[in-house]
Amino acid sequence: MFATLSDRLADTFKNLRGKGRLSEADIDATAREIRIALLEADVALPVVKEFVGAVKERARGEEVSQALNPAQQVVKIVNEELVAILGGETRRLRYAKSGPTVIMLAGLQGAGKTTLAAKLALWLKEQGRSPMLVAADLQRPNAVNQLQVNGERVGVTVFAPEPGNGVGDPVRVARDAVEEAKRTLHDTVIVDTAGRLGVDAELMQQAADIRDAVQPDEVLFVVDAMIGQDAVVTAQAFLDGVGYDGVVLTKLDGDARGGAALSIASITGKPVMFASNGEKMTDFDLFHPDRMASRILDMGDVMTLIEQAEKAFDAEQAAKAAGKLQSGDFTLDDFLEQMQQVRKLGSMSKIMGMLPGMGQFRDQLENFDEREIDRIQAIIQSMTPAERANPKIIDGSRRARIARGSGRQVSDVNQLVDRFFEARKMMQQMANGGGIPGMPGMPG
Ligand code: GDP
Repeated sequence: MFATLSDRLADTFKNLRGKGRLSEADIDATAREIRIALLEADVALPVVKEFVGAVKERARGEEVSQALNPAQQVVKIVNEELVAILGGETRRLRYAKSGPTVIMLAGLQGAGKTTLAAKLALWLKEQGRSPMLVAADLQRPNAVNQLQVNGERVGVTVFAPEPGNGVGDPVRVARDAVEEAKRTLHDTVIVDTAGRLGVDAELMQQAADIRDAVQPDEVLFVVDAMIGQDAVVTAQAFLDGVGYDGVVLTKLDGDARGGAALSIASITGKPVMFASNGEKMTDFDLFHPDRMASRILDMGDVMTLIEQAEKAFDAEQAAKAAGKLQSGDFTLDDFLEQMQQVRKLGSMSKIMGMLPGMGQFRDQLENFDEREIDRIQAIIQSMTPAERANPKIIDGSRRARIARGSGRQVSDVNQLVDRFFEARKMMQQMANGGGIPGMPGMPG
C-alpha cells in the first residue's frame, strides 16, 4: 500500500534537493506534483485540496524561507500535514469504568470484520484484558462458525446463539452476551454484527438496534482499504445510519493505492484507531498517524519495528547471543535460534520495509523468497549437534551427508558454512566496536 504515492513524493522532493531558496515557481511545481500524487493514490478531492492548500501556504512562509535546507523543511511540512489528515494523535480505546467494555463492530460484508474481531481479541488479551467474542452476525451462513474457529485460534471464548434459542435475533444475542460477560467476568465484549454486500436500510437498522440494546463504549466501523473511494462513501453512510466512534482499516497489506486510508479520517471526522495488514492473527495494531506518515515518506517505521522486536525477543537470550558474538563463540545453533526469533517478527519483506530509505529496494523486497530461510534452516537442522557447535569440523564427507539430509546441493552447504564464518567474523568486529565495514552510518 502507498507504494506509488511514496515513489511520487520522493521524486517531487528530489527536484527540490540542493536548492538554497525556493522560488514561487518551485513551490507551485511542488504543490502541483503533490496534488497529482495524492489524486493518483485515490485520495478524496476535498482532502487533496485542503492538503495542498496547507502545504503551499506553509511553504511560502518563514519556516521555509529561513530554513537552512528548504527542501528538507518542505518534507517536514508534508509529513506534519500527512499526520494531520491521518487524524493527528493516536486514538486509544476507551474502556468502561465499571462492568464490561462493549466494543461493537459494523461494516460491509467482506470488510474483514470477523477476522478483525479475533485479531482485536488477541490484541486485547496481550494487553492483559479478558475479552469475549460475540457472534451477532446471523446473516452470513458461515459467520458464526468462522468466528468460533477464529476464537479458538486466539484462545478467546465465543458467545454464539444456542441452536433453537435466539437464532435469528442478533439483538437478543448481543444483549445476552453482555449479561454472560458480567457473569463470567470477561472485561471486554466484542460484538461482530452482520454486513451486507452493499449499504441497505435494514442492515443499518439492525446495527442501530444492537447499538441501542448494548450501549457500546466504542462502535468501530470496519472498512476494506482496498475498495478505494467507495470506502469513503460507505463510511459516510454508516456514520449517518449507525454512527461510530472510530474506524478500523483492513487489508492495508494490499497493493491498492491507499487513498481511502488517507481520506477517511478527514471526511468523517472520526479517527482511524486500528489497522489490519495481513491474514495472520497478529497482523494488527493500533493505528499511529505519525508512523503511517513516516512510512509513506519512506522515513521508516522504526518505532513499530522496535515494539515488535521487544514482543518477540527473549531479552536474556539476546544478551547471551551478543556476548557470544563478542567472544567469537557464536555457533550455528545460535544462528538458527536468532533466525527463528527474527522470523517471529514477520516476513523478511515486512521487517525490512520498516527501515528508513528502503523504498528504493521495494522490488527486491517483494521478490524476496521467504523459502530461502526455510532452506537454510533445513541445512542447519541436518547437521549433528557437534557440527553445529563447532562448524570447523564440517569437512567434505560431512558436507555431502548434510546436503543429502536436507535435500540440497553440496554447493548450498558450502555457501552456508562459508557465509557463516564470514558473518561471524564481521559481527565480532562490529560487536567489539569496529563498525560495519563499508556501510555508511544510518541517520539517527
Ligand atoms: P466479514 O464478512 O466482514 O466478516 O469479513 P471476513 O472477516 O470474513 O474477511 C473477508 C476476507 O478478507 C477473508 O478472506 C479474510 O481472510 C480477508 N482479510 C481480512 N482481513 C484481512 C487483512 O488485513 N489482509 C488481507 N490480506 N486479508 C484480510
